[in-house]
Amino acid sequence: MSHPRGPLAQLRRGHEELVLELLRKHGPLSRGELGKLCQLSRTTLYDILAELLSTGAVVTATQPDAPRGRGRPAETLTLNPGAGQAIGIDFARRAVHVAAVNLAHEIVGSASEPHPADLSWEGRVDLAERLVASLTDGGLRLGALSAIGVGVVGPVGGPDSEDAPDPTDAPDPGETPDPGEPAHPAQVLLGRRFGVPVLLDNNTRLAALGEAIWGAAAGGRDVLYLRLSHGVGGGLVVGGSLHRGAYGLSGEFGHITVDPEGAPCDCGGTGCLETVASIRAVLDAYRAAGGRAEDVPELAKATRARDETALTLLEGVGGRIGGVLAAVCNAIGPSVIVIGGELAETGAALIEPVERALRAQVMPVSRHRLSLRRATLGEAAGALGGIALVLHESPLLSRYPAGPDLAAGPIDVTEPAPKEGT
Ligand SMILES: [Zn+2]
Repeated sequence: MSHPRGPLAQLRRGHEELVLELLRKHGPLSRGELGKLCQLSRTTLYDILAELLSTGAVVTATQPDAPRGRGRPAETLTLNPGAGQAIGIDFARRAVHVAAVNLAHEIVGSASEPHPADLSWEGRVDLAERLVASLTDGGLRLGALSAIGVGVVGPVGGPDSEDAPDPTDAPDPGETPDPGEPAHPAQVLLGRRFGVPVLLDNNTRLAALGEAIWGAAAGGRDVLYLRLSHGVGGGLVVGGSLHRGAYGLSGEFGHITVDPEGAPCDCGGTGCLETVASIRAVLDAYRAAGGRAEDVPELAKATRARDETALTLLEGVGGRIGGVLAAVCNAIGPSVIVIGGELAETGAALIEPVERALRAQVMPVSRHRLSLRRATLGEAAGALGGIALVLHESPLLSRYPAGPDLAAGPIDVTEPAPKEGT
């Protein structure tokens, strides 16, 4: 589908959406049945269908069980299961995760690949493009793509965003919906390659959204999500709405101080939770205590072997995490806490001390009302949240900024604006 602006183009997109929605709801329909349901004029409907067929959004099929002897078998129209409607991309610190959903709003596939932390934005977008191309064995058609939802590390969504790129790096502000907020390099590069709007948000908040729609907290109206990965962050669903905060800074649990005398943090603070509970912090502390582990799977293996050093370390880290969760719970009052990220793969050795500290420190009245769960969507959670952002159908997003507030593009810039990744 194309994305020209203007009232006529909008009307046409509305008609396309109507036809797609009917096919989504009713399954395969003949032209006559579609005509009755959509109430569009025959000329308009045939015009819209021609466009949808040409982009590959819709395909024709001959009804196999059509009654014989009544002329030609009826030709029906159906959503193309291989046509991607939305792509979600999570640009994590050291990996790219992608997922796509088709026009029937079914997940058609997801893929991930790690990369060095210093890979440029050009390199990350190249990788994302390759991963998207690999979905459904390379058979994913993008003619009907409506938008891309992208998660990036760090604050997104305010004029004070520290990680926002220098405005002089951005494309012509006249081509972005909001000149006050320069496009992120990922938005610029993806907009140019795919030719559709690119919606941007914090990747951990998108993971929280994914878990609250499809994962461990599905159906929850008050959810606290914590991700323990190379960074420590999270997201909040409050009163049935994903919470963003005035400057997009909601859910930065990793930067709550747990030790005022502690180590300096990348955020500029001191003794933040991230300085003790990130993957690097935990592995460094383990090795400093005499343990041997190159990565989280090796640490997890040590805990399964009941290695005392590992268990003692995770007991302490879990206590810190539980203390922060208890404080946030007392402020927000969630009913569900979801813990995700690679470090959660250490299992009970970490989760049990988290739960003990949480239950010891949270207000006694809420102690037995809280449900602590492991995340279920794995590394695809952020990319799935990006898709949810594009579809904007979840009630969790009913009060969340949509379209223009999050989008850059479609962009046709001549000057590239890559920026080294962080
Ligand atoms: Zn910090």
